[in-house]
Amino acid sequence: MSPLDRADAEWRRAIENGRRRRWPYRSRPRSDELLSSWFLRCAAGMWLKPFALGNAVWGRSLQILTRDIDNFAPPSLVAGMAALTDTPLEAAWGTSLAEFEGRLVERYTMAGRTNWIMPLGVRHRRRHQPGLQFCPACLQEPISYYRRIWRLAWSTVCCRHGCILLDRCPSCAAPLEPHRAPHLWLCATCRTDLRTVDAAAAPPGLAALQARHEEFLRRGWAELGRVTFPYSHLYFELVRQVARVLFSGARSERLRISVSGSVAQAPGFLAVCHDVETLSADDRRRLMSLVALALQDWPTRFVAAAREAGFWRSWATRDRPRLPFAFASIVDEHLGAGFYTPAREEVRAAEMYLRRVRPGHGRQELRNLVGDCQAVWDVFNED
Ligand SMILES: [Zn+2]
Ligand SMILES: [Zn+2]
Repeated sequence: MSPLDRADAEWRRAIENGRRRRWPYRSRPRSDELLSSWFLRCAAGMWLKPFALGNAVWGRSLQILTRDIDNFAPPSLVAGMAALTDTPLEAAWGTSLAEFEGRLVERYTMAGRTNWIMPLGVRHRRRHQPGLQFCPACLQEPISYYRRIWRLAWSTVCCRHGCILLDRCPSCAAPLEPHRAPHLWLCATCRTDLRTVDAAAAPPGLAALQARHEEFLRRGWAELGRVTFPYSHLYFELVRQVARVLFSGARSERLRISVSGSVAQAPGFLAVCHDVETLSADDRRRLMSLVALALQDWPTRFVAAAREAGFWRSWATRDRPRLPFAFASIVDEHLGAGFYTPAREEVRAAEMYLRRVRPGHGRQELRNLVGDCQAVWDVFNED
């Protein structure tokens, strides 16, 4: 029994035997709503301050507002929210970012950093990093709430409203802290109504890329050019690596120029970090526009741009010896000498992965992951 199932059983028992009572306001999570947003909406629905509600129901030790609960998703909070609002456990779990495990990333790291999940920089009750974005038009809907997808670094536009996402209050530049605001659509620092601010139109190429990403994340597999990714997290690993080489590293500037076609159009980045998750919304938007170009006719356009920029195998593998399979195979096949042959350990790691997520898989599935080579035959026949 998982910790979440255990907590769920405890909560349901407590309600059955009258030790706990369901809330008078029982709102179920909205589509793609964040756990923190759901909690804040419930508190507002009962005219309670979020801090008071958290302390009254879970006690001070759970620290609902002083850490990133969308990231940590404490089982007693998720199960409690499900029981108190009469929501199926699965729907409650679907408000956590960890629910993306297996689709966005292979393994979600609840206690630490996970690829693509933007940090909030939580210290005490304050947030110091703009890891939560918003779309003003989405917040204008009759029920305002914050979406999980707004915590993802590849998420830079709202496909529903065709505008860009904002990661700060446009009036005072503070990161969003809805748990400190009287209403979740107000800036906690200067009280600007975030529903009324202007967001520029989304560039078409970026909106198309984002729509594809949202679709891949939903269905769990992806395609790019003629490549099919049986698991979407393999695709997202590739995209993250393409993004990475476009904004950090010695040849990244030349690569940006060759991908965008001219010096004038190539954005400059002053990032001192190597992680796309800590870039500002503006920088990520520029970066993902480049990524959209680099992925066109995959891998033809990327390979041509990389060659023009002198981005050869030695550069591509320089600061990161272990590259995602899909990226390494392109680099080895087109940007270096000889063909890509994965090391036996890599093939074995891929095989172990497949055994875990798809028991009884065929040899072809292993080949799809790592390419065709002798090691596939050897490793597949090992027991
Ligand atoms: Zn929107
Ligand atoms: Zn503000």
